[in-house]
Amino acid sequence: VRRLAIALVHHPVLDGQGAIVTTAVTNLDVHDLARSARSYGCSDYFVVHPIAAQRELVERIRSHWTDGSSGKRIPDRKEALTVLRIVPSLDDAIEALAAGCPANAGGARAAVEVWVTAARKLRPARTFASARDALHGEGKPVLLVFGTGWGLAPAVVDAADALLEPIAAAAPRPAGADYNHLSVRAACAIALDRLMGAR
Ligand code: SAM
Repeated sequence: VRRLAIALVHHPVLDGQGAIVTTAVTNLDVHDLARSARSYGCSDYFVVHPIAAQRELVERIRSHWTDGSSGKRIPDRKEALTVLRIVPSLDDAIEALAAGCPANAGGARAAVEVWVTAARKLRPARTFASARDALHGEGKPVLLVFGTGWGLAPAVVDAADALLEPIAAAAPRPAGADYNHLSVRAACAIALDRLMGAR
């Protein structure tokens, strides 16, 4: 099985008007994606934020649960947060992942495969079945990237090695299932289960 890490990007992402923005950190995203990452064997959960004060906030959330009495009170959460890494940019996440990898002579970007997620098929997409097969073989570490706001900026999607197919209800869809606005927490858990879950 290949090494799999996830990233949650707060910049560059889209807002409701399609502008490139930076979103604020959500407390629940820190905990819930860490729990999913840890449960499905991801090596790292990168929270990507360009603003130092927001990275410090994530660090405070982490230390609240890892140091002192709260860590003793809820040890499961403490353990989940061991995978958390806080970085300023997606490139830093790629660097960090490549650093642990022997074949990075061609540079960090070449040593890692970057897979992005989106609710819409923005370009030809890789099926979860194919992605799952690829992960269960040999190869470079994979960084699976999730967006906040209204989703990842086109530059991030374009620079990725693959876009995964959108998660959606099976066809024929039940009435109302053309609605497709999963929270990033739900999307991450479903994606990790499809890629790494017991079958
Ligand atoms: N404010 C929202 C929240 O609290 O979750 C942020 C939504 S954010 C745009 C949703 C992210 O989850 C997307 O960037 C993508 O990474 C992932 N996502 C959402 N729906 C998805 C779907 N149907 N298929 C794959 N990924 C999806």
